Amino acid sequence: MMIRSILLITLLFSPVQLFALDFTLHRQQGRQPGPTLLVVGGIQGDEPGGFNAAALLTTRYRVERGNLWVVPNLNFPSIIKRSRGLYGDLNRKFSNLPENDPEYHQVVRMKKIISDPQVDLVFNLHDGSGFYSPEFINKQRNPQRWGQCCIIDQSNLPGVRFGNLEQLTRTTIAQINAQTAAKNHPFQLKNTRTRWTETEMRQTLTYYAVEQNKPAFGIEASKSFPTHIRTYYHLLAMEAFMDQVGMRFSRDFELTPQGVKQALKKDLSVSFADGRIKLQLNNLRPTLNYFPLQKNAAVEFIANNPLIAVVANRNRYRIHYGNNRLTFLKPQYFEYDQSLDGIEMLIDGVPQQVEFGATIAVEHDFLVQRKKGYRVNVIGFSKRGQRNESGLKIEEQQIVDRYSIDKSGKIFRVEVYHQKRFSGMVLVDFRAQTKKQEPLVAQATLARKKPAAQ
Ligand SMILES: [Zn+2]
Repeated sequence: MMIRSILLITLLFSPVQLFALDFTLHRQQGRQPGPTLLVVGGIQGDEPGGFNAAALLTTRYRVERGNLWVVPNLNFPSIIKRSRGLYGDLNRKFSNLPENDPEYHQVVRMKKIISDPQVDLVFNLHDGSGFYSPEFINKQRNPQRWGQCCIIDQSNLPGVRFGNLEQLTRTTIAQINAQTAAKNHPFQLKNTRTRWTETEMRQTLTYYAVEQNKPAFGIEASKSFPTHIRTYYHLLAMEAFMDQVGMRFSRDFELTPQGVKQALKKDLSVSFADGRIKLQLNNLRPTLNYFPLQKNAAVEFIANNPLIAVVANRNRYRIHYGNNRLTFLKPQYFEYDQSLDGIEMLIDGVPQQVEFGATIAVEHDFLVQRKKGYRVNVIGFSKRGQRNESGLKIEEQQIVDRYSIDKSGKIFRVEVYHQKRFSGMVLVDFRAQTKKQEPLVAQATLARKKPAAQ
């Protein structure tokens, strides 16, 4: 909808080695001035509730008053590898870190963002084990657990705007706990009193922020919940904090467990070849074979979500979305051709100009118009003696199911080549056909009933 088109964030990583997956900073400035919130997700790679919430804040929220800065993928290589930390715990590296630490530059860059004079408040989103409780109740609910709590290092930062950490947190917790879903798993306040007691906590991101006189908060959703529930709690907390500091914002989904679940799956795409190939990332087959990538060039991709990455994996590439591994691309390498932007097609008999990268719904059949010098290959379709598949009317049943890009066998690749170079890809999507057939069957049943009634 409106929000998505405005907030579409494109990321371009040219190298695809893991170590090159730098974190990204997404800054949104509201039309009206207000405080600047910095939200960090993914400091540990195996806490998807936190980093998915941060990602949704960048892709699905629109700030009207105030500014929202989000780093949704601080430890991106560890997120991809589903590891807490490939090089140890990144949240213990914010005090003194030797320069030879593999994450040194990442930490320096993050510290610089935290200490930016514009930043008013800092949030670090985590998923914690069990349920924090100030008193020992049982193994899952006790003072050693971290889930379902808001953490502060001290009650106040005197003389600092929004320095009433405890009060802000208590109001937020009350707001979270007023939601029905929180009844059995209420949030708690945990004050680590870092300055006076803890030593380990002095190395955390939030304590570094506190030392820079920035009000900082840790949010912990419980690892006992599935990802979308954790994400839901994080967003409840962030919205409560944003309300309190006078920010105004909107989002394009409903803040319910179900609404969040859908938002996490919706509208994910990655494109290659300057947009001449575009994949919607749902329900993909585990491997896409003969995928046309560029010869002698780094693989470049554009994703519309900051948790998507394409990473080299032996002789293949893997598309990742946070902790999820979506599909392998088994490449076939081509020179790329840029002489054409799209193709003329007949879709169910109707002429249409179709841009490369588009997915086009087909009910019954399609045909790619002949064009001199260009060869069309419909992956999974073959006709004896026909190397160029333009000019042929093709129906779904003429294409072999297992060549579809989706698990349901409904979406197929139409590729165009110029001499031996790859020009672009269009996807034909037959999913609409299934829906259309249902009423037809119903009509047929009615028609049969009619004579019987007479
Ligand atoms: Zn954590």
